[in-house]
Amino acid sequence: MTADLRVPVLYYHRVAPDADPRTGVTPGQFSAQMALLGRLGFVGTSLERALTWKEGSDPWNRRPLAITFDDGYEDNFAYAAPILEGFGFVATIFFVAGRMGQSVDWTTDPVWAGQRLMEPSKARELVRLGFEAGSHTVTHPDLAKIPDPEAWREIRDSRERLSQDLSCPVTTFCYPYGSFRDSHPSMVREAGYRAARTVRRYRPGGSSDPFRMACRPVSGRMGFPRFALTLLSYRLGLRGGDVP
Ligand SMILES: [Zn+2]
Repeated sequence: MTADLRVPVLYYHRVAPDADPRTGVTPGQFSAQMALLGRLGFVGTSLERALTWKEGSDPWNRRPLAITFDDGYEDNFAYAAPILEGFGFVATIFFVAGRMGQSVDWTTDPVWAGQRLMEPSKARELVRLGFEAGSHTVTHPDLAKIPDPEAWREIRDSRERLSQDLSCPVTTFCYPYGSFRDSHPSMVREAGYRAARTVRRYRPGGSSDPFRMACRPVSGRMGFPRFALTLLSYRLGLRGGDVP
């Protein structure tokens, strides 16, 4: 039986030599993290594939751990993807449908503003390699601060646009800033997604709603010892998995 095994979800932004520790990790840090993951018997995979495994319809019999990236930075293609490939892993990248090939314009915080976002052609290449393209809305608004009809358009249109632009099914969603109102998870379901990730950490007895999925954020501030402890606690079952 695989159904009672726990599937953790890691959450990253940037992977680049110049990444501010608040926004990401260096390729060296990322590579060390992926190596540890492999040594502990985890297989880094996409959220979509982890969900399928959890439902028991994926014959894959090793221990999956979902790796997710928010925003779709250009450096995910340049640095993270080759490292993942080296370990035989894939991941989910949540793209901002209306900003691909452009740069971050949704904040003025200098560590984020102006960062390059991946071109659709590169995203298509990753999809061909088995990576999953998830949706992170069209323009990266704070969904809790806009009217519902607008939130609905961001949720629905981003899925249509990404699946068209990247020629792939888009089945998972991620709330920008982890922010949403109670009406939004059902909108996400209605728009045709099968799950959505928040930025909340798993708590025992917390939500088991696949449209409010927890995760473990990883940034350059985390440090290797804490990363290793987190993975160990997942491995030993001391910490609950994030995929409900
Ligand atoms: Zn984001």
